[in-house]
Amino acid sequence: MGKTPEEEHPVKAFGWAARDASGVLSPFKFSRRENEEYDVTLKVLYCGICHSDLHFLKDEWGMSIYPLVPGHEIVGIVTKVGSKVQKVKVGEKAGVGCLIGSCHSCDDCANDRESYCTKQILTYSTTYYDGTTNYGGYSDIMVCNEHFVIRFPDNLPLDAGAPLLCAGITVYSPLKYFGLDKPGMHVGVVGLGGLGHMAVKFAKAFGVKVTVISTSPSKEKEAIEHLGADSFLVSRDVDQMEAAIGTIDGIIDTVSAVHPLLPLLNLLKSHGKLVMVGAPEKPLELPVFPLIMGRKLVAGSATGGLKETQEMIDFAAKHNITSDIEVIPMDYVNTALERLVKGDVRYRFVIDIGNTLHAT
Ligand code: NAP
Ligand code: ZN
Ligand code: ZN
Repeated sequence: MGKTPEEEHPVKAFGWAARDASGVLSPFKFSRRENEEYDVTLKVLYCGICHSDLHFLKDEWGMSIYPLVPGHEIVGIVTKVGSKVQKVKVGEKAGVGCLIGSCHSCDDCANDRESYCTKQILTYSTTYYDGTTNYGGYSDIMVCNEHFVIRFPDNLPLDAGAPLLCAGITVYSPLKYFGLDKPGMHVGVVGLGGLGHMAVKFAKAFGVKVTVISTSPSKEKEAIEHLGADSFLVSRDVDQMEAAIGTIDGIIDTVSAVHPLLPLLNLLKSHGKLVMVGAPEKPLELPVFPLIMGRKLVAGSATGGLKETQEMIDFAAKHNITSDIEVIPMDYVNTALERLVKGDVRYRFVIDIGNTLHAT
């Protein structure tokens, strides 16, 4: 019997994986490919926990491949570069986000929109060109083609900067693309979690007015005093929602579960835009009348291309935008995931891989 591609891989790696849709993680030995001429190897120091990790771990999107090592907010130190690599040098800080491959020749790739390439390869739970399964950043090392590596400016902290690689770019990109980054605009952010709190920070840095729309009244004080939101609506408070009808230009909806869209569409001015970035496992009900009557738009948006991700990181470093994080040790990950289900985190868990992931 010939060796499987995984067995051929010479670089020993260690991480935590789920073996099935229970989603429970435990230590996992695997291997990564040799660092090739266009590859960069990172010693992983921190990795954020995105709600997408949770969807994948529990196979809520029906595309999980087990064993599954999650993690696509990966930062660390470059330990190896191939002979053709130009982007980073050994010893520098760098990151890997949601993508590790794309076709490089379609229209979207040609226009730096790799996150819309139909042949894109997500960072984990996917198959690489050599037939091996891709494993994410809840692991000690990462090997990645340099195109998908992001340079980390020196003043950006690695731990609080890690969530920018998914949560950051996923809200930065639609704010820009849909023209919601112009002063004078009024932007709504639905769901104050990992993505939502980054949306508030970027929108404020763009100089727009921000209203948070949340199911959690307990987040109001912090949203306004700490994150800088201008106002706060409790989505289950009918009176508050009615008083705000027709006041918002565009909404970034980051909610991870099924929820009603009608109250959100009603908040929009005519010609307003509702942009879905949250990805609930089941379809949402879309009322058409408010769309027709107000010529409103409902759209989606997927992370961002590599050029825009670098632009976002550089913008964040310049404006001191980082994520509010709770740093956890590796062996706390299952508890953290349970807390994330309940929305019990302000606002992103980041695993301290460098200090707490020990090969067993
Ligand atoms: P998160 O930290 O869990 O935040 C989600 C927030 O949604 C919660 O904090 C909560 O905010 C609100 N929420 C949760 N359940 C709700 C419910 N039943 N009804 C109404 N609101 C509810 O998650 P995240 O990491 O920000 O990710 C959010 C979603 O975006 C996930 O579905 C994830 O997979 C998706 N995502 C998409 C992309 C993309 O490319 N489009 C990229 C990354 C993530 P309040 O307490 O304020 O209500
Ligand atoms: Zn993510
Ligand atoms: Zn492509």
